[in-house]
Amino acid sequence: MPERDAASFIAQSDRFGARNYAPVDVVLTRGERAFVWDVEGRRYFDFLSAYSAASQGHCHPKIVAALVEQASRLALPSRAFYNDRMGAMLERVAGVTGFAKVLPMNTGTEAVETAIKAMRRWGYEKKGVPDGEAEIVVAEGNFHGRSTTIVGFSDEPAHARHFGPPTPGFRLVPFGDEAALAAAIGPRTVGVLLEPIQGEGGVRIPPAGYLARVRALCTQQRVLLAWDEVQTGLGRTGRMFAFEHEGARPDVLVLGKALSGGMYPVSCIAADDEVMSVFTPGSHGSTYGGNPIAAAVTLAALDVIEDERLPERAARLGEHALARLRAEVGTKPGVREVRGRGLMMAIEYDADVAHDVAHRLARAGVLAKDTRRAVVRLMPPLVIEPAELDEALDAAIPVLAKPVG
Ligand SMILES: *Cc1c(COP(=O)(O)O)cnc(C)c1O
Repeated sequence: MPERDAASFIAQSDRFGARNYAPVDVVLTRGERAFVWDVEGRRYFDFLSAYSAASQGHCHPKIVAALVEQASRLALPSRAFYNDRMGAMLERVAGVTGFAKVLPMNTGTEAVETAIKAMRRWGYEKKGVPDGEAEIVVAEGNFHGRSTTIVGFSDEPAHARHFGPPTPGFRLVPFGDEAALAAAIGPRTVGVLLEPIQGEGGVRIPPAGYLARVRALCTQQRVLLAWDEVQTGLGRTGRMFAFEHEGARPDVLVLGKALSGGMYPVSCIAADDEVMSVFTPGSHGSTYGGNPIAAAVTLAALDVIEDERLPERAARLGEHALARLRAEVGTKPGVREVRGRGLMMAIEYDADVAHDVAHRLARAGVLAKDTRRAVVRLMPPLVIEPAELDEALDAAIPVLAKPVG
């Protein structure tokens, strides 16, 4: 292979690619556990974990083996036929989530779309809402994906501007305010769709008790509760699911990202029969959804989460990291707040310096991503070793503590 420097890869991507991202200027070529390497051989701590998809660490050998074995046997027979892998995945996800049924898709966006369809149909067919009038309540600062329907109820202009007209049937309320949520629920409300912690919105953690109170409100008003745990789910916050922190079991659970350990796009919704029975043959589907590779990869990805006790690791390591960040960064001028749950952590600054901080972190050997301009999110793979976490924090803290470079 001819020698190429980082600049030539960047120039090629920028020349031929749409400019819908503004990446940090590193060109990665290899990953292993909590580390990635660039084309110039430099090693970085990955503190983004592909937005929590790579919670099991990069290229986990068990997940790689499952992918390779299945890819060489049967990849995509389509849902027109049964295959010998999908059932085991569905049974396993049902077991892990505690729901009766699972509907597999590919991306998180598709799983959220599936949840929206499920809630609307349930509203028309089980609750008796007049056809075409269903409303779903969502939160300001939400991120649920990039489809035209989903960005239609985003209040982030960068995501929504000039992609309208927005799909009707959504109502925005402030996140973390259950009085506002209660006031927004009316006779046509079929569901409430929320992230238990807003990830892209800046690792916004709602007040204690909010998840449980939202659960109680939804039960009382007979509307479905869907937690979008695409980012928070599968160990990231120190529990298998973030709703478990308050025992706020939803009616529809939306999963993606770490469901496949960063190896392959796999997402799903999980729900009980009352909701899942609204889907009838032909009502929903996806060419790749539930394919044998996805099934094999998901089974291995869930094995890793359980065998390596990743939720417990996230709780323990997150507590340590957060204490260090609070003490060594939280007290510095220009730093508004240090917050987190498990290994989902963030620094919020007084000014829009996060993009600059992320670039300086990369030069210090730690890859992280700014979100919503003033927030740097820190989400290492859950497999990171305690000593590695401290080494990464030693490198990151001097940068994080000095927001103006
Ligand atoms: C990433 C994310 C999505 C969208 O997932 P994609 O796989 O990018 O489509 C949806 N919801 C939440 C909470 C997410 O973090």
